[in-house]
Amino acid sequence: MSDTPPKIIEALRLPADAVIDPGGDFARAATCRIVTDTRSLQAGDVFLALRGERFDGHDFLQTARDRGAIAAIVDTAFETDIAQLVVADTRLALGLLARHHRLQWQGRLAAITGNSGKTTVRALCEAIMSRSAPTHATRGNLNNDIGVPLTLLQLDGRCQQAVIEAGANHTGEIAWTTALACPDVVLINNVTDAHIGEFGSAGHIAQAKAEILSGLSPDGIAVLNRNDRFYGLWAALASRHDVLDFGIDVPARVQAIDMVSDEGFYQFTLTIDGDALGRVALPLMGRHNVMNALGAAAVAHAMGCASTHILAGLNEAEGVARRMAMVEGIRGTTLIDDSYNANPGAMRASLETLVQRPGPRWCFLGAMGELGRYSDEAHEALGRYARTLDIDRMITIGEPARATSTAFGERGRHFDDWASLIEFAQHSLPTNASVLIKGSLSAGMDRLVNALRSES
Ligand code: ATP
Ligand code: MG
Repeated sequence: MSDTPPKIIEALRLPADAVIDPGGDFARAATCRIVTDTRSLQAGDVFLALRGERFDGHDFLQTARDRGAIAAIVDTAFETDIAQLVVADTRLALGLLARHHRLQWQGRLAAITGNSGKTTVRALCEAIMSRSAPTHATRGNLNNDIGVPLTLLQLDGRCQQAVIEAGANHTGEIAWTTALACPDVVLINNVTDAHIGEFGSAGHIAQAKAEILSGLSPDGIAVLNRNDRFYGLWAALASRHDVLDFGIDVPARVQAIDMVSDEGFYQFTLTIDGDALGRVALPLMGRHNVMNALGAAAVAHAMGCASTHILAGLNEAEGVARRMAMVEGIRGTTLIDDSYNANPGAMRASLETLVQRPGPRWCFLGAMGELGRYSDEAHEALGRYARTLDIDRMITIGEPARATSTAFGERGRHFDDWASLIEFAQHSLPTNASVLIKGSLSAGMDRLVNALRSES
């Protein structure tokens, strides 16, 4: 037992018989990487076996051993010759290891949650913060109760600060991940009714997002969106903390003033606590991205970044793929590839951006997922809302989205299959149209983007 690695043993407070160590190798695991996927495992790693809905990591123990894992963290002892650490629940063990690792790490950490814009705000924060010090940031979309601990385990001496995303598709998930991350700064970006089927109501989503405050250090800063309908709830729950609020057309500490837009791209003066920092010409399209930029500026300010870095970071920001990305389409059309994801609020934000683009304006919409019993109502309401905007045609695919084009009216059309939709789009799109393509990830709308690219 005395030879077992301090990191793992301290973190998990395990009894001595939890370690099975035939070769005496476990001691070497003290400073090793912990890996949950054998495809990314390298010789000398520790393999932690997770049980998921589709896969059970315990089935891959032999593979892990063959790839050079020196130890495994498991919930049941196996017949194998590598060292094993047997714990009651490997998912909890992963979290505790991550928390322990994060607390050993000396840097400051910001955590971002919200229904929409987490990845965009994270990317903007990274663009700002990395100008002031080496910064670690969530890679890909590793933001759930597995992704957050894996992100925390990547923190090391090469970075002095971190910005991570915390997402949720069930109550309690963010309470857990924020307890592991121990953030110094948190941001609640918005409620746009994503996963409302799982949570039951927008209010329940707002409460779930507020869980992030429970992990905030006592002298930490809560960054809150003053334009969101749940701002009051969050501000009340954060009352023991310093609150840095942001917004447009509201008296917030971080604001965009003198805002002008040109074909969906915005310029504004960024102010913090009444001081005008300077002008921002945001390279990301859409008013919702101004909100994301304000959120990122507020987080960076709370993390101690200089104003010059905040301005430069926003002015030179690069968009994230498949989020309002401009793609040259056939016949001089401009495709707005927003195919990464969708929920009711995100759909409205994208349609509002489309109508700022030159006409004719078309949208191709796939279904919004995870809306549960709200699905029919939300799809129909979206069509009714789109009808109030200056949009020329709406084409939908996927059964739930039929209600959207039906509610949109006579200029709406629904397709049941991809081949017909693509053929119609390729033949009917008017020259020089602005074309929004959006749907939940599961709707696979990127297929249409690829079919309508100018080189295809
Ligand atoms: P996910 O939970 O799917 O990972 P996310 O929160 O990381 O999403 P992004 O990937 O940054 O969000 O953006 C996804 C989509 O959400 C965008 O394509 C856009 O339609 C919408 N969106 C982004 N920011 C906002 C915002 N502030 N308000 C409303 N909608 C937004
Ligand atoms: Mg994301």
